[in-house]
Amino acid sequence: MIIKESPLSRTKTRTKKLVILISLMLVFLMGSGYVLFEVSKSRSFQFFGGLIGKVETTEKVVALTFDDGPGPYTEEILHILQEANTKATFFLTGLEIEQNREAAEAIVQAGHEIGNHSYSHQRMVLKSPAFIKEEIEKTDELIREVGYEGEIHFRPPYGKRLLLLPYYLKQTERKTILWNIEPETYPEIAVDSGKIVDHVVENIEPGSIILLHVMYESRKPSLDSVREIIRKLEEPGYTFVTVSELLEFEK
Ligand SMILES: [Zn+2]
Repeated sequence: MIIKESPLSRTKTRTKKLVILISLMLVFLMGSGYVLFEVSKSRSFQFFGGLIGKVETTEKVVALTFDDGPGPYTEEILHILQEANTKATFFLTGLEIEQNREAAEAIVQAGHEIGNHSYSHQRMVLKSPAFIKEEIEKTDELIREVGYEGEIHFRPPYGKRLLLLPYYLKQTERKTILWNIEPETYPEIAVDSGKIVDHVVENIEPGSIILLHVMYESRKPSLDSVREIIRKLEEPGYTFVTVSELLEFEK
């Protein structure tokens, strides 16, 4: 005997199937959205090109890196580094170089490494290829204009990148430099220079790249931690090098 489905129950089945399909699609979209968001801020993975969060080495070498600026505290940080006889790497933005050319020149003249931190410090995700190119190339030009001659590495604002940015960096043979020690990420640590020092000392390992912001009043505890970080890491035998020097140690 053939049981014929009534038109009504056929419509019901179809609706049910549609609901299941839409639900599955939503789960997929949310899932892939989540994966892409995670990838965009990952410290260890990107779709194209080299990504460096730390260097694999057994040598006790580490790099101090400062993001943003040049800002009002450039002179102070240069003074601290000079007293400690330490070289660091400054990831500067193009816009701030334009606004503080003399400060940028002072960083170059003191022998520190300069990196490209984009022109206008926007998240480099969901931006056009033309925008990405302009942000990077304009900033490299400004870095050259203030007298820097070494290799220029790139660090994306907020560490964010997805497809087009890594692709452009790879096409132009630029390295993406991130970090593996970021005390300012923890609000209770960021406000206390002693805690910043402790966090760095506790988490340090050979090949580490330390990230701090020291150019503005709002990050005074970070600026105040630099002297101690250098002292406490030199005690057990760590040497501070620039990012380019650190890359030479990669096994
Ligand atoms: Zn930044």
